[in-house]
Amino acid sequence: MLDEIARAGGQAAEQQDLPPYPEADLMHVVDLLSYEERNRYFEVREFLQTRIRAASIDYWNREEFPFGLVADLAKFGLGRLQTDGTSKLFKGLMYTEVARADVSLSALVGIHNELIVGMIDELGSEEQKERWLPGLESFTQLGAFALTEPDHGSDVAGGLATTARLEGGEWVINGAKRWIGAGTIADFALVWARDEADGQIKGFIVETSRPGYTATKISNKIGLRIMQNANIVLDNVRIPASNMLPGATHFAKANELLRDSRAWVGWQAAGIQLAAFDVARAYALDRRQFGRELARFQLIQQQLSEILGNASASLSLMVELARIQEAGKLEMVQSAMAKATTTRIARASVAMGRSLLGGNGISSDFEMGKLFGDAEVLYSYEGSYEINSLIVARAVTGVSAFV
Ligand SMILES: Cc1cc2nc3c(=O)[nH]c(=O)nc-3n(C[C@H](O)[C@H](O)[C@H](O)COP(=O)(O)OP(=O)(O)OC[C@H]3O[C@@H](n4cnc5c(N)ncnc54)[C@H](O)[C@@H]3O)c2cc1C
Repeated sequence: MLDEIARAGGQAAEQQDLPPYPEADLMHVVDLLSYEERNRYFEVREFLQTRIRAASIDYWNREEFPFGLVADLAKFGLGRLQTDGTSKLFKGLMYTEVARADVSLSALVGIHNELIVGMIDELGSEEQKERWLPGLESFTQLGAFALTEPDHGSDVAGGLATTARLEGGEWVINGAKRWIGAGTIADFALVWARDEADGQIKGFIVETSRPGYTATKISNKIGLRIMQNANIVLDNVRIPASNMLPGATHFAKANELLRDSRAWVGWQAAGIQLAAFDVARAYALDRRQFGRELARFQLIQQQLSEILGNASASLSLMVELARIQEAGKLEMVQSAMAKATTTRIARASVAMGRSLLGGNGISSDFEMGKLFGDAEVLYSYEGSYEINSLIVARAVTGVSAFV
């Protein structure tokens, strides 16, 4: 059966004048999905490749949020991957395929599912779930995950300075947040603040319409330009006591979900490398120098092989991660290792792709320049490369080297 599908893929490639292995899934990862999930996967991928991928470039150039495209993503159920019972592998491959089409949108889909829907579903009250989940799952409402602060990034777990004070049946929140994705367009921010009474970091749903909440877009980013990242100021913002997530009364609770969201970046890293390979291969087959296609030069062939090898290694690592995640064995060490490793090689892959396109690799018009910038974000967010490396090495030596 699997051979038939592979053969059918090969024949389709021949008929449409596509190169061999048009989807570049050399390890037949998609075959690991159930029949139903595979069909859904093909349907979504087709949509992403035909409707999202090329269209995203202009939005990226203009740093503009594509509300219409997000509504389209909702039609394919991408707003409820966290709660619709799909397998970890399917969810991961969705993140990869969205990233292959556009990394910013995969950040939106990933943060939305892992950190917003996931947090409310697992740590929220029944009332909070009823209030927010239907709108979130249909992507008609958005949340922003507000953890990082202007003065606390890598050390945020210990250093977080935003405060929450319970006063007359309301929480009063004060502080500032930085880099918060969708901060200017979300309906609410999931704000992490330190309870003045017991010193614990807790999670609060802060509607963005509350007096005292201001969000300012961060412009001029070199990557993730479609994602609307924001500086947020919380100036005596008052919210009902019931807006605290009852399951998030200390930071360790959030850490479990942060472990999973760290892994999501690994799927993104696989996707960006597949995108780099797609662009590099098409360019190498089309562009002629010295009277022949670039693809005929051995050095170019080596680079194509290396990009695809990196992409396949990343994807295979993530497939294994999904396996242990499904078995309930995923710990922070594996997520951190996968995030650090895949983003490190993704950076190398897009740099190689960038140079393979020569001068045209510098322009986002040829997509590779866009990928080059986006890879930098993957390397540094959800815990920088260095911090994730420290997490891995602490786990395997028993010695902490953070400070
Ligand atoms: C585009 C983008 C989107 C983001 N989206 C969100 C979001 O939606 N929500 C959110 O809460 N946050 C978000 N972030 C924040 C992101 O998670 C942080 O940028 C990241 O954790 C790093 O923190 P920092 O930028 O403050 O760097 P710093 O912590 O200031 O680190 C600077 C450098 O020092 C290194 N370093 C720090 N400590 C050590 C150490 N002990 N040993 C060795 N090296 C060290 C770091 O690795 C890094 O290279 C986003 C960031 C970006 C760029």
